[in-house]
Amino acid sequence: MRPLPSRNLAKSNAQFRRAVKKLPLGVSSTFRYWGDDRTIYVSHGKGGRTWDIDGNVYVDYRLGYGPAILGYADDRVDAAARKGIEVGGVFALSTERELIVAERISKMVPAAELVRFSNSGTEAVMAALRLARAHTGRDSYLLVEGGYHGLFDAAMWMSNVDGWEAGSNRDPDLVSYGKGIPQTLKALAHITPMNNAERLEDVFRKHGNTMAAMLIEPIQGNCCSIMASADYVRLARDLCTKYGVLLIIDEVKSGFRVGRGGIQEILGVIPDITTFAKAMANGYPIAVVAGREEVMRTFRYGGASHGGTYTAHSVSLAAADECLRILDETPALETLAAYGERLKTGISSILDARGIVHSYSGHPSMFGLFFAEKAPDNYRAWKSSDYSFYDRMAYHLHDLGVICEPDSREPWFMCEAHGLDTTCLTDTLNAVEAAVDFAQEHFDGQAKRA
Ligand code: PMP
Repeated sequence: MRPLPSRNLAKSNAQFRRAVKKLPLGVSSTFRYWGDDRTIYVSHGKGGRTWDIDGNVYVDYRLGYGPAILGYADDRVDAAARKGIEVGGVFALSTERELIVAERISKMVPAAELVRFSNSGTEAVMAALRLARAHTGRDSYLLVEGGYHGLFDAAMWMSNVDGWEAGSNRDPDLVSYGKGIPQTLKALAHITPMNNAERLEDVFRKHGNTMAAMLIEPIQGNCCSIMASADYVRLARDLCTKYGVLLIIDEVKSGFRVGRGGIQEILGVIPDITTFAKAMANGYPIAVVAGREEVMRTFRYGGASHGGTYTAHSVSLAAADECLRILDETPALETLAAYGERLKTGISSILDARGIVHSYSGHPSMFGLFFAEKAPDNYRAWKSSDYSFYDRMAYHLHDLGVICEPDSREPWFMCEAHGLDTTCLTDTLNAVEAAVDFAQEHFDGQAKRA
């Protein structure tokens, strides 16, 4: 057997040993910990690539979980951000640019009649839910299995499919993500399996009159880009309207990525409230909660509270202004989606040549790869699919200079720079070919063959 690929991670390993004494797990976000020996520390990123402190270079398909839509350290956005520094940061007052960026967003996304800025996706969705509750005077809400809306208590509920038997007539239990979430909040959260119209109608029949909102991520950016069908989201829209529930489409990951108007434009559904974050400023921290004017006007004294010291920070806002201009006025999104298509085609020809059954989900700008004939269409189906071959391949890809998420739930993200750099595709496909071969050689299971 050939020896497995490896990289020199001596400096990252040493950094980990020092960092873990001061930072829990040696990192600032738990998902950045990839094991004591495989947690990497970044020196810098440029375009579609990231360099670690050992000098290893990677074609990066995580892109910070999506924000680097143009590529790391984009000269145009960084120049704008530098100008934003000169404005002075935050003032506990407003600047003119807020309106300019809000107008751009409204032009790109018809549902965004009115706009408020936040700093992170979590904050934006938290504000969206508060707004819905304030507007409706109701407290409970509906989540869709496999969705992720950030790290705040109300959103940290999921269906526990571990140990749940597929095909049984009982639903998986609703459990919190980890500890520290007050269990008393559970009574307010309802959850439904995606793409199941009957179950959706059922939950509205039972709870529609007491729910403030339904939160949906129609492309599940945290569950392999599994997509809701247009019919499903339209049904959700109709049921929300019928029962006076506000539809929140969370586009923190898909927004300004899958299209100028997001997934809502592709599906042709107008939500009451919508959220954006990642791709809007190429990585500078800024987010948006936006929606129907009548609903958004609930943000007022005596209505729903919204604000924060750092909201509409001059650096992030200037970066958003330039990034959104580029996404709106240039073919950047077409470039990165076309790259995604080329990458999928290239991966498929490697897998087809080996007779390995596979499929894709999502959008070419953020796609999931499955080693199964058909991509799952909801979280329960993902959980019962076999992702061990993916895990193995991803592990080798890191050693071979390609960063994808080790967890198969995270899609592969494309950026404009991938499409403009002629070597990203060939470097990636060479690594994929080698990783697949290593995974097959050293895998005790077997990828399903055609
Ligand atoms: N909503 C969605 C759909 C997300 O993907 C995320 C982050 N992955 C969030 C909300 C939370 O965003 P943040 O990490 O910026 O707080």
